[in-house]
Amino acid sequence: MNHHRNWKLGKWGRWGAALLIPLLALILLVFTGVLDGKDGEDQGDHISASVELSADGLGLTGEGELAAGEEQNQDFIQRFFNPELSNGQLQIRYFHLEAEEKSGDAILIHAPNGETMLIDAGIKEVGPKVAEYLQQLGLTHLDYAVATHPHHDHIGGYTTLLRTLEIKQFLTVNVPHTTETYKSVVALLEERQIPVTYLEEGDLLQLGEEVTIEVLNPPKGTGPSTLPAELSTSTINNHSLVMRLTYEDQSILFTGDIYKEREYDLVERLGPKLQADVLDAPHHGDKTSSSKSFITAVQPKYVIMSANLFQSKAVYDRYRKQDIDVFITGIDGHLLITWGQTPTVLKR
Ligand SMILES: [Zn+2]
Repeated sequence: MNHHRNWKLGKWGRWGAALLIPLLALILLVFTGVLDGKDGEDQGDHISASVELSADGLGLTGEGELAAGEEQNQDFIQRFFNPELSNGQLQIRYFHLEAEEKSGDAILIHAPNGETMLIDAGIKEVGPKVAEYLQQLGLTHLDYAVATHPHHDHIGGYTTLLRTLEIKQFLTVNVPHTTETYKSVVALLEERQIPVTYLEEGDLLQLGEEVTIEVLNPPKGTGPSTLPAELSTSTINNHSLVMRLTYEDQSILFTGDIYKEREYDLVERLGPKLQADVLDAPHHGDKTSSSKSFITAVQPKYVIMSANLFQSKAVYDRYRKQDIDVFITGIDGHLLITWGQTPTVLKR
């Protein structure tokens, strides 16, 4: 499928696209250089689209982007925010989080049995927006709120959500952080008496009978006693939760912000067990990640880069060279992945 050929870039025409991509890449190079040293760095990008998976395989469909215009866009938005849609089917929503800086990611899983899991909540500034989106979807509680790691572009939004929603369980890694955002989240979890569970390799989560989530990272036993006293950005990122979700015979691999070194480690330990139909590009599609050997082991049909700012043309090309469809929230908007009779990914 070639839908991303058109992308939203169609609006700009071929010349615009030709100029825009190098320009974006340049801006990102500058920004990542500046931001990477900070507490959370990377608030990656965002994609908005919907994917439906079926026995025949996965498919991605555009939300209408260029040619479609307003009407198609409206249709997609209606579908994206229609809570009824999730009845009886697994649905995964990638929220496009707009912000001046990197806004992080927020991914909502709606299991066929009605259980909900939010993976990350973006930066603090987008928290109210995520809360609004969840409200639009008719959600008054989350069964599971997940923080893949304690960087602000993943936990920041929880400073809002922990106040506005009933959260039944908070799942994260046993990796502490020193930032004010982290302290706020920990304080809110205590104040609201929300049970916190640390996940590690080998843990299994079940959303009803049909959805299984296997935790592949961080390594068993990860905790303050196994970590250096001073945690670098890369150490924290490499201890991100990596989770492989399976539903019927389809799968999606969530990777947090792991870097190449952790990818190599996973490939060595798990090899073909990493295979997934959809890959959540590690570290928002940044050049720190998405090594060739990792892509080869996962063999995804679709890749989603959750990033409001496009991270790396080289990484994008690496996936495209293997004929893998790439969706980027910052370009494609909200993304909806549905596992139905036929697999389809939808975007605006
Ligand atoms: Zn991140």
